[in-house]
Amino acid sequence: MQGRTGRFDFDAVVVGAGAVGLASAYALACKGLGVGVLESAGAIGGGISSRNSEVIHAGLYYPTASRKAELCVEGRGRLYAFLDAHHVAYDRCGKLVVATRAHEVAALETLARQGQVNGVEGLELINGRDAMDLEPHLLAAAALWSHETGVFDSHGYMLALLGEIKDRGGALALSTPFEGAEPLAGGGFKVRAGGREPTTITTARLVASAGLCAQTVAAQIDGYPRHHIPKAYYGKGSYFALQGRAPFSRLIYPIPVPGALGVHYTRDLGGRARFGPDLEFVEAPDYQVDPARAERIYAEVRRFWPGLPDDALTPDQAGVRPKLHGPGEPQPDFRIDGPNVHGLEGLVALFGIESPGLTASLAIGDLVAEGLAC
Ligand SMILES: Cc1cc2nc3c(=O)[nH]c(=O)nc-3n(C[C@H](O)[C@H](O)[C@H](O)COP(=O)(O)OP(=O)(O)OC[C@H]3O[C@@H](n4cnc5c(N)ncnc54)[C@H](O)[C@@H]3O)c2cc1C
Repeated sequence: MQGRTGRFDFDAVVVGAGAVGLASAYALACKGLGVGVLESAGAIGGGISSRNSEVIHAGLYYPTASRKAELCVEGRGRLYAFLDAHHVAYDRCGKLVVATRAHEVAALETLARQGQVNGVEGLELINGRDAMDLEPHLLAAAALWSHETGVFDSHGYMLALLGEIKDRGGALALSTPFEGAEPLAGGGFKVRAGGREPTTITTARLVASAGLCAQTVAAQIDGYPRHHIPKAYYGKGSYFALQGRAPFSRLIYPIPVPGALGVHYTRDLGGRARFGPDLEFVEAPDYQVDPARAERIYAEVRRFWPGLPDDALTPDQAGVRPKLHGPGEPQPDFRIDGPNVHGLEGLVALFGIESPGLTASLAIGDLVAEGLAC
């Protein structure tokens, strides 16, 4: 692989082969650039991108004109089209956001207005009776029916992205951690990569898309202003799997809570039902699910599914959100920081790409490519 000009080994190097790094590499490769992706793990998508709800979000929740709102709505449309074109499985099953008590209905109406202003299509406010006709196990005073929400095979999606990158001559190096970069006089970067055969490569552009390691990677780039590296917080979310038949055909969400969407019901494409994720701020990422957290999950689920039997839930997986805020603090937007923020030409650094990062990934990738003036 050689950069377009022959001056660099690559036109662009992307650090991190999660959904967002791969979507960024895809966007850059679509511009005709020679792209290399460095991934420290032995496989793609093993980070945040494999420990989530796999929901294609409609774009309801996020403040109007925020990156989260705009990139979610745009990314969702792009994602469904990409999945169709690449025969990756999904189910546009829809979801109900449920007010379980009369006093929650006003919050539901606010959410519906927020969704409309955000440009979300296919939203319908329905009364409790209609919601319970749709989903007979549900308890609802009213519901917001989002027809555009779905679930998908996120790993199949990442494999399809990788296929597109490779078809365009891009390269992926697994078990190859990024260990540092220094800006070169006249532009570009010299990148140090570790692993079994440590090496240095040159690149005209650099994208830091390292998920939970975003802050570490930024700090390894010479000249990156420390005061522009946001403090990292880790918002762990535990899931519990349901033994037995899935009770609902649509996804069921409560009214959102500060910092998260609330413990919800999702099912994967095979019909396996899960509840979660809850939100627990932790000092460092860890993926153990504490069975004691089930008690709270039972209580939250029974608000919308009173018939949840005792002993029906078992600990499942956990994921960790790369948060930029602590408990009780307002939830900031995605950070997609270009030279206007950090002053390093040719570099985009991503921070805080939590939900709806999977849904938004293709739109984030386009923004990254634009930020690098491709
Ligand atoms: C509990 C939970 C539920 C969620 N649910 C949803 C959902 O339903 N829908 C949705 O749209 N979004 C959801 N999200 C958000 C979504 O999963 C993330 O936004 C997205 O997966 C982030 O992708 P990423 O590529 O930024 O990070 P990652 O997937 O973590 O990728 C980063 C990669 O960088 C690699 N890396 C780290 N350091 C280095 C280094 N030094 N050198 C090389 N490689 C390195 C890591 O190994 C990793 O593979 C959820 C997140 C969580 C935690």
